[in-house]
Amino acid sequence: MPTDENAKKILIIEDEMSISDIIKFNLKKEGYECEQAFDGQEGLDKALAGDFDLILLDIMLPRLDGFEVCKRVRETSSVPIIMLTAKEEEVDKVLGLELGADDYITKPFGMRELIARIKANIRRSDQLAAKAAESSDVKDFSGLEIDMNRYQVRKNGEILELTLREFELLKYLAEREERVFSREQLLEEVWGYEYYGDIRTVDVTVRRLREKIEDDPSDPKYILTRRGIGYYFRRP
Ligand code: CA
Repeated sequence: MPTDENAKKILIIEDEMSISDIIKFNLKKEGYECEQAFDGQEGLDKALAGDFDLILLDIMLPRLDGFEVCKRVRETSSVPIIMLTAKEEEVDKVLGLELGADDYITKPFGMRELIARIKANIRRSDQLAAKAAESSDVKDFSGLEIDMNRYQVRKNGEILELTLREFELLKYLAEREERVFSREQLLEEVWGYEYYGDIRTVDVTVRRLREKIEDDPSDPKYILTRRGIGYYFRRP
């Protein structure tokens, strides 16, 4: 197959060679370019050195586990990361999201589902890049400046490092000040597409957001909880 210059590049970090090869085979058929890494350290090195459009990241990996890889990649990159979790690793999903993964898929998964997730995540990230190229549209919420187009948030002048999902949630709520949304509504509106996640995902993302935007995350001033209902944004 001729290599397409515009082909999206995916890094597969998975130590089980048979799984990795099956994923690679199917992604190549879809026109993706793939690189493989078979342990966490190799994966991290490749992730930091290469210019990938998406990373598939297994959790149980030799040398460095998937959580550590995710955390270290996130220090410098907002590349979409989909974690591959085993069924018995329920708790790990939440931890993965806390460390900045964008999505997760539970093993064993079907290739169609995996490809749908990859497409959705790359599309979102492309939209973000396109938006970033547009002019800025900064809204100031009492010291918290949200650039709606460039996906940038500043607090007291300093840029905050938000993941795509955190930004989208913040933007969604901030654009609808004072309106209370249930977790289910947020999951549907912000996570979009047929997301299989559970509503804890929303709580985890709210918690991470608060840690980044609030002076005191335990006494939030921007993203507030309406007991028994959900969350809303208010300028302090
Ligand atoms: Ca593994």
